[in-house]
Amino acid sequence: MKMFLDGKWVDRDEKIEVLDPFDNSLIDTVPSGNDRDVETALAAAVRGFQITKKMTVYDRAQILFRAARLIEERLEEFAVIIARESSKTINEARKETSRCVNTISCSAEEAKRILGETIPFDSFPGGEKRRGYYYRFPIGVVLAITPFNDPLNLVAHKLGPAIAAGNSVILKPATVTPLSAIKLVEVLLEAGLPPQAIQLITGYGSVIGDPLVADERVRMISFTGGVEAGKHIAARAGIKKIGMELGSNSPVIVWKDADLQLAVESCVSGAFWAAGQNCIGVQRLLVHNDIYDEFKSAFVERTGKYRIGDKMKEETNMGPMITETEAKRVEKWVNDAVAGGAKLLTGGKRRGALYEPTVLENLPADATIHHEEVFGPTVNLYQVDDLDEAIKEANSLPYGLLAAIFTTSIDVAFKASYDLDCGGVMINDSTDYRLDSMPFGGVKYSGLGREGLKFSLQEMTEPKVVCFNLPGM
Ligand code: NAP
Repeated sequence: MKMFLDGKWVDRDEKIEVLDPFDNSLIDTVPSGNDRDVETALAAAVRGFQITKKMTVYDRAQILFRAARLIEERLEEFAVIIARESSKTINEARKETSRCVNTISCSAEEAKRILGETIPFDSFPGGEKRRGYYYRFPIGVVLAITPFNDPLNLVAHKLGPAIAAGNSVILKPATVTPLSAIKLVEVLLEAGLPPQAIQLITGYGSVIGDPLVADERVRMISFTGGVEAGKHIAARAGIKKIGMELGSNSPVIVWKDADLQLAVESCVSGAFWAAGQNCIGVQRLLVHNDIYDEFKSAFVERTGKYRIGDKMKEETNMGPMITETEAKRVEKWVNDAVAGGAKLLTGGKRRGALYEPTVLENLPADATIHHEEVFGPTVNLYQVDDLDEAIKEANSLPYGLLAAIFTTSIDVAFKASYDLDCGGVMINDSTDYRLDSMPFGGVKYSGLGREGLKFSLQEMTEPKVVCFNLPGM
C-alpha cells in the first residue's frame, strides 16, 4: 500500500514489510517515509488548513457520516485487515471496527455542538457598555501519532474529531500496523474529504518523528503510545498543544461482598483482550482475603480454558503478541518475577509470538512486572483486607488511567470512586471498559488531556473572544 501526501498516493523504493504476527507471513509493504516526505506533508497540511477552516459544519459532518456508513458496509473487510496485521482475533477485530463506526459517527454529531457562550462583560465595573461572546476556532495542523494495539479505532479517535473541528491532519500510524489506518484514509477520501485535508505518512517514528514533532507549523500533537515515546515527544515539541494518551498498570479491587462470577468473567476478559496489549487491560487484581482462595481458583480455572492460536478462527479467544520480541520480553519479566519469589499459577509458556495467558501471585515489590506496564497477557494477584490499604496499593504506581472495583456496597463503591487516583473508575466491571464518547485519559504518567469525541473537540479547538465596545448604548 502507499502513503498519501499532497493529494496523491505515493510510493518509495525503500519499503517496510507488514507481517502477520501469527506466522510472520508478508501481508503487504508500505513506503518508508523520509525527511523530504515530512516536509511535503507539513507544507501540504498548512495549505490544507486554509481549505478545512472554511468548510461548513454541515460539510464536515456529512463527510464523517458518509465515512461511518462506508466502514459499516465494509465491516468484515476492515476486520480482516485488523486481524491480520495486529494481535487481534477476528472477533476482537469486528468489535473494534464497529466501535470505529461509532467513533466517526459521534465525531460527526459533535461537529454540530462546537459551541461558544455570551460573556457577561458587565459583571465588573467598566464593562457596562460592552457586549460579546466567544466561539471556538480550529487549532490548525494536528499531528496524530498512533499505536499498534487498536490500529483502526485509535486512528479514528484522532481523525474524526480533527476533521469535525475543521483542522488539517498529518497521520503517522504505528509502523507494525499501518494498513488499517491507510484503509480508513481511503474511506474518508471516498466520503468527500478534500485531499489536502489529510496527509498520511508511513515510516519509523525514530526517523520521521523528530522533524514532525518539532516543526512549528504543527499546532497540536495528539499522541497515543508508550510513556517513553511520550516523554521523548514532549521534550522536543516546543510551544504547541500536546494531548497524550499513555500507558497504565490497571488495578482492580475485588471486595469481599463482590459477585465473584461476574468479577472472574470480566477480569479474565479484561486481562487477556488483545493478548493483554490494551492500555486499560487488567494488570493488578487486589482481592479481599476472605474470598481470595475462592476467587483465585475460579480465575485460574477460567484462564486455563482460554483458547489461543489462529486469529482467523472464530473459536480462538486470544491471538499472538505483536512480535516475538515482545513475547520474549513478557516471558523474561515473568521468569524474573518467579526467580524473585513470585508463584506462577497458570501459563508462562511461549511459542513464537504466542504467550499463554498467565497468572502470578506473591509478587516481590521490585519485580518489573509488578510496577511497570506489562502490555502482555499476564495478571498479578494480591491479597488485601482493608479498603484504605487496597486503594493505597492501587494508587502506589506512577500511572492512573482507569481503575475498577467489584462490590455490592454503595459506600465502598463511592469511597473507591473518589479515592482512586485515575481518569475513571468502573464499578462492577473490569478496567477494560470504554465508551468511545466518554472522557478518556489519565493522570500521572498515563497522560495529559482527554479524548472522547466531545472532549477531543475541546482540545482541538481554541476559544476566541469577540467584544463590542458600544459607547452609544
Ligand atoms: P509506542 O512504541 O510508544 O509507539 C506509538 C507511536 O509512536 C508509533 O506510531 C511509533 O512509531 C511512534 N513513535 C515512537 N517513537 C517516536 C518518536 N520519537 N517520535 C514520534 N513518534 C514516535 O507505543 P506502541 O508500542 O505502539 O503502543 C503501546 C503503548 O501505547 C502502551 O504503552 C499503551 O498503554 C499505549 N496506549 C495508550 C492508550 C490510551 O488511550 N491511553 C491506548 C492504546 C495504547 P513506530 O511504530 O514507527 O515506532
